[in-house]
Amino acid sequence: MPPKFAPLDPSRILAGLGDRARYFEVRVIDECGSTNSELVEAAPDPLGRIQVLACERQTGGRGRRGRSWLSWDEGSLTFSLRWSFEPGPHMPAGLSLVAGLAVARTLERLGGEGVQLKWPNDVLVNGQKLAGILIELVQGRGQRASAVIGIGVNLHVPQDAAIDVVGGVADLVGVLSGLPDRNTLLAMLLSELATLLDTYSSAGFAALRGAWMQRNAFADLPVLLSGEGWSQSGVCAGVDEDGALLLETPDGLRRVLSGEISLRLAP
Ligand code: ATP
Repeated sequence: MPPKFAPLDPSRILAGLGDRARYFEVRVIDECGSTNSELVEAAPDPLGRIQVLACERQTGGRGRRGRSWLSWDEGSLTFSLRWSFEPGPHMPAGLSLVAGLAVARTLERLGGEGVQLKWPNDVLVNGQKLAGILIELVQGRGQRASAVIGIGVNLHVPQDAAIDVVGGVADLVGVLSGLPDRNTLLAMLLSELATLLDTYSSAGFAALRGAWMQRNAFADLPVLLSGEGWSQSGVCAGVDEDGALLLETPDGLRRVLSGEISLRLAP
């Protein structure tokens, strides 16, 4: 039986954010195709707050490269936030890693063990995918640059869910001994995101690199990197100060910036 949750409620989410509530504008809707798509199209907040959109039922969740992100009523937490930033030579490189780190830290704070990060955008627990992240940049004319950060977390995956993912799927019911209320969970995630986004905008990904590396799912393991029409094997040597993947290859250290690339353990 899926766990029963109270409905998502902006006032409860804001209450959970405490002093940080003033940095956020929070909206909840019953149903949408993709919270990312909604926020990419939304007008920026005139007060410059981080805009959050959470959805009870997301019917067309997206991953990278046209892939789908699946969610289930009562079984998922799906939301996006739109965050403005000053673009620079190193910004916003590494943003998906920052978002993943925020999710990982939140889960750890709740008692989750074995939380790992898979470059560039997945949160795993003991090798199984628990959460997905999709970053989309918005650069409208006359607007500040902003990024929409979409996050889907599995709370309870139905037994008959057909998800084709290497390593399998994890859900929070299986990872935590007690599940928090979804409003509390979302407030905790937003609070951690706000903390890490602050650090990231003032000091860049370099300040968070060590924390990401500690949770690197493939640290020092043989991996296969593949993109459109190419692949490269090597040993995963972590990430650099821009969040680029470092791959030890027979020809030396290769640096790979995020793009349409998949990382897998070598067969
Ligand atoms: P990879 O890096 O593993 O090649 P990706 O990071 O590009 O994949 P994403 O775009 O993050 O993948 O997520 C989409 C993929 O995640 C889907 O193709 C599917 O395999 C898997 N997936 C979809 N829904 C879920 C879910 N609820 N839980 C876990 N995995 C899912």
